[in-house]
Amino acid sequence: MRRPRNARDVRELGKIDLLRSSEKHIEEIDLKGDLMVALIFPNNYEIAVSNLGFNLVWKYLNQLEHVRCERFFFDETFERFYSLDTRTPIDQFRIWAFTFHFENDLTNILKLLLKKSVPLRNVDRSESHPVLLFGGSLCYIDLPVLKPLADVVLHGDIEPMLEDLNRSIYPTTRAELIEMFSKFPFSTVPILGKRFERIALCQDLDRFPPISPLIPKHSEFADKLLVEIERGCVHRCSYCMMGRVKKPARFLSLKTIEKTVEKNRSIGLIASNVTDYPWLDELIDLLEQRRVSVSVSSLRIDRLSEKFLKFLRKHQRSLTVAIESASERIRNMLKKNLTDSQIEKALSSAKDVGFEELKMYFMFGFDEETEDDLKAIGDFVRRTLKFGFKSIKLSINPFVPKRGTELENRRMQDEKTLREKMRIISSYLPKHIKAQFESLRECKFQYMVNNLEEDLANEILERIQNTKLLDETLSDLIEAV
Ligand code: SF4
Repeated sequence: MRRPRNARDVRELGKIDLLRSSEKHIEEIDLKGDLMVALIFPNNYEIAVSNLGFNLVWKYLNQLEHVRCERFFFDETFERFYSLDTRTPIDQFRIWAFTFHFENDLTNILKLLLKKSVPLRNVDRSESHPVLLFGGSLCYIDLPVLKPLADVVLHGDIEPMLEDLNRSIYPTTRAELIEMFSKFPFSTVPILGKRFERIALCQDLDRFPPISPLIPKHSEFADKLLVEIERGCVHRCSYCMMGRVKKPARFLSLKTIEKTVEKNRSIGLIASNVTDYPWLDELIDLLEQRRVSVSVSSLRIDRLSEKFLKFLRKHQRSLTVAIESASERIRNMLKKNLTDSQIEKALSSAKDVGFEELKMYFMFGFDEETEDDLKAIGDFVRRTLKFGFKSIKLSINPFVPKRGTELENRRMQDEKTLREKMRIISSYLPKHIKAQFESLRECKFQYMVNNLEEDLANEILERIQNTKLLDETLSDLIEAV
């Protein structure tokens, strides 16, 4: 048992122990290898364990002959950073594998490296430093910002990588580990000038059923077993990379789901759109017969059948849908393929089956947008209120052009324009409806991470390394967007 060294340590270990003991592990994970890999989710615990990919990578890496992989999350107050699994300090791990899903997490990654005195630039690291490995959603694309930072980037799904990893990875020097990773077709190793040849995609979800090995208590899906029933997406929305980079869409069979619910009666269904699942009616029948309690991750409004809405209403009071724009013209530009009448029909059906609370997502900040398109959100909300929903919540977010999407070459609109658009949208909303706007600073940061070129990223990292002025340097950069 690791003994705390001071009061700060007591708090840090106390938090780790509390969270670890709240988890229910349904698969035994054998921590046996001697190549120590720290799997780090650079955000808080709740976000980390709500991420099925993070839990799956932990399970799969521990199946590799030589690897012992333990989980870490980020907390501003932590100093030592102990693993969730055995309270081992992060300094003792040879490889630090970051799950990079959200652009804003880059700040936490840099904070962690500064706290642990790991050089921010790969060229400044030596044998005494860990190998910094990056994977996750943002590594399905080639992000120049990672070139000066990462030692290794693994692009794509973990499952097709496992054989290569098992064959080649064992405890050895930092330089040899980096060399080994460079041999894989799905890796980028910037310091060796090696670029990936292809993105790894798991074609058969039933061969590697994406089912979480643990059930967390403190999570977006509390007490639910996460089951991914779709990977990729059948749609091609122009602002999203899912349908372009992670194609084709792949589905978990009903048979595998059936086996899973034999043992677990409370599940969270993970999919780009649960309603795109090809055997949705049969899935509903199965879940009803087995009396499984369900949460769903995300929904497309055009596919909401009455059967599905009735089923969902038994499990949740509130319905969340992404409309994106109240203007059909803008939705067509976004390739949402969603007509006004489809939306109205779906919302009316949702009210008829008993949903009282509605949450809707919108985007704004497009060059094609007119004042009428912005005002249309208010008109849309008024029409929706007539269906009789007791509560309507709006989340309205500025459009951030992202790499890997059809709109990747666009510029994000400037802050003054976006603020004026927010003012117009708010002034046309019904008085009692409040919109929640995503922070402009965070959106600008996301844009910056997507668009920062390698040379500038290198310069920024060097400046932060020398001055230790992380927040100030990033703020200057965000101001310049
Ligand atoms: S926005 Fe949703 S529906 Fe459109 S491509 Fe992305 S995941 Fe698919």
